[in-house]
Amino acid sequence: MPLIAVTPCRAMTDYLESIHRVGGETRELQLDSDTPADIIKQVDGIIFTGGGDVDPALFDEKPHETFSASEPGRDQFEIELAKLAVAAKVPILAICRGMQVVNVAFDGTLVQDIPSMVNGAVDHAVAEPRYVIAHEVWVTKGSRLGSLMKDQMEEGDTCQVNSRHHQAVKKVGTGWDVTATAPDGVIEAMERAGQPFCLAVQWHPENFWRTGEFRALFEGFVNESKK
Ligand code: MN
Repeated sequence: MPLIAVTPCRAMTDYLESIHRVGGETRELQLDSDTPADIIKQVDGIIFTGGGDVDPALFDEKPHETFSASEPGRDQFEIELAKLAVAAKVPILAICRGMQVVNVAFDGTLVQDIPSMVNGAVDHAVAEPRYVIAHEVWVTKGSRLGSLMKDQMEEGDTCQVNSRHHQAVKKVGTGWDVTATAPDGVIEAMERAGQPFCLAVQWHPENFWRTGEFRALFEGFVNESKK
């Protein structure tokens, strides 16, 4: 079975369940004992999980008043891991904060606070229950995301998602392509060409493991990690 590394976070269960349900084994990474260079050699795929905000000093900005830091050392750990994984073509699925940190790893920037910085923003902070639908996203035709989600989409390009974020990708990192946006223009997914599997989503597909709406994303990821 493919071994999937999962970066440290406070709500681990749903990520682990989502991988186990599609035939993957999991390894929860530890900031104090794991090193990115070793992990790359030991695992078949990596999930970058949700969590606190990426330090805006990493993209040369001062923190917005809503800034809420992540675990000490996590930014640096995940940035190094993302760069090494792409270089080694290790499959990546990045979720919420995970999408933001991999974007910063490739010199991208972030909208630090959607409600105060995006005109006409839809509500991207719908917390409970975790799997409640918050808004739709429009998916780029011909993208990996579009092909994985084809059976779940409405009108060929629209997908209903949950949403629990106050930040988003602003300047897209080098080598990444945007493959989904919300109706207010907020970037909701991106992917890299030339990789076995390299997909980032701003919503939380892992919260749907009981009902399976996003099973295809995890299935596609784990299947590529097998090779
Ligand atoms: Mn959203």
